[in-house]
Amino acid sequence: MIQFFFSRLLLLLLWMLPLLAPAQQLIESATLVPAADQWLQPGDRLQVRLKGRPGSQVTFYRGQQLTELPGQRGTYQGTYVVQPGDTLRNRPITFQLVAADSTRATAVSKNRIRLLSPNEPQLAQTTSNLSYLNYGLGEDRLGGAKTGYLDSAVVLHLTGRVGNLYRVQLAATQTAWIPQDQVRLLPPGGFVPTSLTGSWDVRGDSLTDYVRVPLTARLPYRSQILSHPTRLEVDIFGATSNTNWITQRDGLQALGDVHYEQVAPDVFRLVLLLKHVQSWGYHIGYKGNTLEVQVRRPPAKLRLRGLVVAVDAGHGGTNVGATGSTGTHEKDLTLAIARQLQQELERRGARVVMTRTDDASLEISDRVRQLRRARPHLLVSIHVNSSGSAATQGTSTYYRYVAFRPLSAALYAQMRRTGLRGAGNVGSFNFGLNGPTEYPNALVETAFVSNPDDEKRLLDPAFQREMATRMAEGIRDFVRGTRAKGLKGWLLGKPALQ
Ligand SMILES: [Zn+2]
Repeated sequence: MIQFFFSRLLLLLLWMLPLLAPAQQLIESATLVPAADQWLQPGDRLQVRLKGRPGSQVTFYRGQQLTELPGQRGTYQGTYVVQPGDTLRNRPITFQLVAADSTRATAVSKNRIRLLSPNEPQLAQTTSNLSYLNYGLGEDRLGGAKTGYLDSAVVLHLTGRVGNLYRVQLAATQTAWIPQDQVRLLPPGGFVPTSLTGSWDVRGDSLTDYVRVPLTARLPYRSQILSHPTRLEVDIFGATSNTNWITQRDGLQALGDVHYEQVAPDVFRLVLLLKHVQSWGYHIGYKGNTLEVQVRRPPAKLRLRGLVVAVDAGHGGTNVGATGSTGTHEKDLTLAIARQLQQELERRGARVVMTRTDDASLEISDRVRQLRRARPHLLVSIHVNSSGSAATQGTSTYYRYVAFRPLSAALYAQMRRTGLRGAGNVGSFNFGLNGPTEYPNALVETAFVSNPDDEKRLLDPAFQREMATRMAEGIRDFVRGTRAKGLKGWLLGKPALQ
């Protein structure tokens, strides 16, 4: 019985040997770098890595050789620069290995490559007015660093893909990346989007100043506010000037001088000087194919009374946020503090817009949409921090754009007066509610629920009220600070409130 079993096993092994042995012994792994489905165009690098038997000859696409890394026997890397005329229609890459003893093996990558032909430009269109571009392929809990939002139906020229991100060719020397789910691919045969710019219309109505630039297509754009002097710059990609005049009508209150620069053959820059040192926000979108920049004015009276303040309680519903040692959920703490802040602001005559008043589940995009409709003068988002180290504690504030730094700086200074330790005022923060440009905004990470001292305070209703009072005072300080700066600061070129 036993003998019979062994002889069968031996036969089975002998039968399997030619199937298993070569592949397993010669090639351990063969991958693209990065290990993701990719679209490449001529000039791009196709990078690969293979682990296999040391001392072999290894080749991949078009017979290109891999090099065995000195000091890492058995690890081979190769680069192939895609040439015009190369074709691969969503195919894996095949590797050939020839060992020193002439035994051979082949392997196929798990991920696939599509080589794009510049003669058949791949176009796509943004699907919502909260579409956004990323600078690169970065990824963390906040997502890749964002360059900014785009309107819907903006036409993009895609020249690559890595995993679920498409590379967007903005201009000859500028690219960005956009998540796959933000666009729909357009059928072949379209032209790479370009446009001449028409003559601008610059005007103000009772609420807002407007700059309108007629184009023949919805082109991508990027914007930023700069200081000394305070100005808004908007780059339109693929646009070339045919702007022969700029009509500036009556009623402008936020806009000073406006002009443009053709900073590259395919980059048209609007330069909009702002009359006030403090920007109260702006919105960029399309009306038909006309790009419209709405520049918001300062509130009629620079004081808390009458100000529309949005208060955002972080997390909610199924998104509980951080959890403290006593089982406290961040979502409950943020709502309690937000309610206190609402009361405090209303007591001082402000009108408060709450993103949530109960245990609702709300996505960041729901909140941003809701706030776009509510048009607040400013926003404070309230969260509770958490760290893997129980020793980490303190309060911190966050802003994304330098123009809105004075708000978070004022909130930080007041929050420090609660006696909480200082964990800093943090800039360029890639948090969804720091993304809107429509109103000054700041995030307050009140304290660390993961620290026993901070947690005790966060749970204390009296301390919650104190934090709310401090935040209200911070908002008041910010508004007063902008009043003090006013137009004079602009004329003197003084820096924004520290
Ligand atoms: Zn949070």
